[in-house]
Amino acid sequence: MLLKTIARKTLGLKNHKIDKIKETENGTIQIDISCKKRRRLPSSCCKKSSHMVDALNPRRWNHVSLWGRKVVMVYKPARVRCSTCGKLVVEDIPWSMGKSNLTTPLIAYISIMAELLPWKQVADLFHIHWNTVRNAVKQAVAYGLKHREIGKVLYFGVDEISRKKGHIYLTNVYDLKEKRLLWSGEGRGIDTMNRFYEEVGRELKLSVTAICCDMWQPYIDTITEHFPDALIVFDKFHIISHLNKAVDEVRREEARELKKNKSEVLKGTRYLWLKNPWNLTDKQRVKLSELEKMNLKINRAYLLKESFHYLWYYRYAGWAKKYLKQWFWWATHSRLEPLRDFAWMVRRHEGGILNYFKIPISNGIVEGLNNKAKVVSHRAYGYRTAETYKLALYHCLGKLPRPEMAFKFL
Ligand SMILES: [Zn+2]
Repeated sequence: MLLKTIARKTLGLKNHKIDKIKETENGTIQIDISCKKRRRLPSSCCKKSSHMVDALNPRRWNHVSLWGRKVVMVYKPARVRCSTCGKLVVEDIPWSMGKSNLTTPLIAYISIMAELLPWKQVADLFHIHWNTVRNAVKQAVAYGLKHREIGKVLYFGVDEISRKKGHIYLTNVYDLKEKRLLWSGEGRGIDTMNRFYEEVGRELKLSVTAICCDMWQPYIDTITEHFPDALIVFDKFHIISHLNKAVDEVRREEARELKKNKSEVLKGTRYLWLKNPWNLTDKQRVKLSELEKMNLKINRAYLLKESFHYLWYYRYAGWAKKYLKQWFWWATHSRLEPLRDFAWMVRRHEGGILNYFKIPISNGIVEGLNNKAKVVSHRAYGYRTAETYKLALYHCLGKLPRPEMAFKFL
């Protein structure tokens, strides 16, 4: 009797009652449910109280397990004549979501666990298949996306991540203020961005004032087209990473040249040139000052890199522009090709770089989110499709509302 009461309360039954709770041969706890007599039931189409017509074959749902026992609910869904639209449809079953054979509380329970633990572990813990965990997360995400409020987004950042060493690209769009993932889609081209615009972007059009992204032409083109009134701010961290790549190229070239003369002076120095000076260890600092005396190309590249960072200390776009002009002259006269190429890239994108001094946004938070995403992606390991990865991203970074339940198991 007590078990019946608990089951009824945790399921939030109103129009339905529990006929019997029994133990099956394999130890499963089975809850038989029926609908109360002469009840009008809500229709699944319009959610309006309607007359019952007949009942379908019994359906089974897995529910939250109890004392290590599997719990199954069995019920014959009723068909109703919708009082609003007149269609003959299945009733709106309060513990069920679509065609899922998991109860809504179980979906919520599994999906919360899947935010905390690797999916494989959740599957083991619940004695269910990995696919069932994936499905629960899928249902929870579908619910969250349907019920979320996007609201006013002032700034968003567009960022790409690659998986499987660049075989899968995803473009992620983040709300930079609320630190949440707004949209994720496969690819990084114009079609990807157009899809974003159709699905979410159009809604942001009125509120967004600035958009942060990499100096990547498909992003730039589509943002300019769809958000003509928003300011494009090129992401500081991407700019720095382009600069670091140029410096590293100089080092590699020079190391190759030196090796021809049997000199290994640059061996193992990669991070010396890329790290911020205040992050160097004492040993690295000594090594760096020795190398600095040697009149190497990499040292010139290093000085250019360090001086570029002064740019970010300016408060006004006008002064920053002047500084950038000066730096451009140094870089283009450095006789270092990678740095010269970088300088020209900066020159071509100057407007969007200087916009940072009008609206200082960056995709800095994305780094943290991406790290979280990496953990997530490791969790989704085993099914490395873009679709599963996307699901895991939305689940962990979307700040989505959770399915509502009569009783919170977690
Ligand atoms: Zn209807």
